[in-house]
Amino acid sequence: MKQMIKGLRLLSTLLTPKVNSGERIHHSVRGILCSAGGQCVACLEPNAHFGLCTPCRQDLPANHWHCRQCALPLAFEGNDRLCGQCLQDPPPFSGVIAPWRYRFPVDSMIQRYKYNGQRTFARPLINDLAEHLVSVLEAAPERRPELLVASPMHPARRRQRGFNQAADIAEQISIRCGIPWTTELVIRNRRTRPQRGLSREERLANLTRIFHVTRRAPERIAIVDDVVTTGATARSLTIALLEAGARDVQIWALARTPG
Ligand SMILES: [Zn+2]
Ligand SMILES: [Zn+2]
Repeated sequence: MKQMIKGLRLLSTLLTPKVNSGERIHHSVRGILCSAGGQCVACLEPNAHFGLCTPCRQDLPANHWHCRQCALPLAFEGNDRLCGQCLQDPPPFSGVIAPWRYRFPVDSMIQRYKYNGQRTFARPLINDLAEHLVSVLEAAPERRPELLVASPMHPARRRQRGFNQAADIAEQISIRCGIPWTTELVIRNRRTRPQRGLSREERLANLTRIFHVTRRAPERIAIVDDVVTTGATARSLTIALLEAGARDVQIWALARTPG
């Protein structure tokens, strides 16, 4: 783990000067990592598979014990429990699949991907999420959604960031699972304040009626996002989709924050 931290830090100093130069970033990063022959993004070992070597992949913080409805990481064993919030105020979505906990190195990998456009850092996570979903759907075909909806981003924020990471993830999952995906079913009406740093009540208020569904929704939908935080976005997006005709909405994401 220590070696992995060192690796990420080293890589970040290596990449920092290239971060603010727009589209060229992707090429530079890809160039560095590919020319190194499939280097691990965490520890820089040369024998990586989809960006992570085997020991670093095994060290990723798996979300083993979690709430069965919202995937909130729980401290005790067992996946058949509900967290306090789901008991008190059951969410409108039927379930959350989020294989990792949002902590090191998963948080750093996602932040680099999302805020710096360094897609290479998310490749191992997206790849493994897609593989996990393929096996979940094989075991439980009734959970198969008809459509993947990328969690919508306001157009202004998308322009600022250069891409919508949720759409990027949805596209990869769509290819692997053979389920169509869209960014057009739901639009974000107005720009919200960033969710980070807000209380749960503030987040819910921030998200009230910001989603507009453009046409009748299919019955079974999976919303795709990078991280599920309080679940406030997921709740409000699910409500909008249910009101537009969906019957079952689940959430698929890379990671779940502890609260
Ligand atoms: Zn490694
Ligand atoms: Zn829960």
